[in-house]
Amino acid sequence: MNRKDLSKDKFSDDGDYPCPVCHHGQISTMPLMEALACNFCRHIFTLDAVTQHLTMADSSLPLTWRWNGRGWRSVYQNGIVIGWGIVLGAIAFVLLPTTLVALSAYIFPAEPQAFLSWLPIFWIGLTFVCHLLLVVSIAIESYQFPVFAYLNAMQRNLLRR
Ligand SMILES: [Zn+2]
Repeated sequence: MNRKDLSKDKFSDDGDYPCPVCHHGQISTMPLMEALACNFCRHIFTLDAVTQHLTMADSSLPLTWRWNGRGWRSVYQNGIVIGWGIVLGAIAFVLLPTTLVALSAYIFPAEPQAFLSWLPIFWIGLTFVCHLLLVVSIAIESYQFPVFAYLNAMQRNLLRR
């Protein structure tokens, strides 16, 4: 790789870069400050000149991205790699308890006229939703997708119109 290619991949102060949080605004250096700010969601970022890592400064979450020349890539600080084993485990974690609950409702069916006859069906749905939400929340955390920051930015944009 020659010097020109290397500089292209690097983040520089001049030029517009898309915001890694809202993907709508553009981030630029704030006047008289080391920090960068987005013109859409107003989030503030700091740039590490050595590692080229952009970190969200106004969040308690350690959200960090790296510029790869075309877009921002999330930096996995713990080196989390999600493989097929984890995906299969996650699917089993959602489907297995749901199947068990559904099976018990099928083997011991409730009388249609009985009090609380809707409960087994409700319980199957609840088991599925609870396990799915748990898997989704873990996935969001490990992929560092800033859901709430994104929703806040979208809400602010809608209110401004
Ligand atoms: Zn933004």
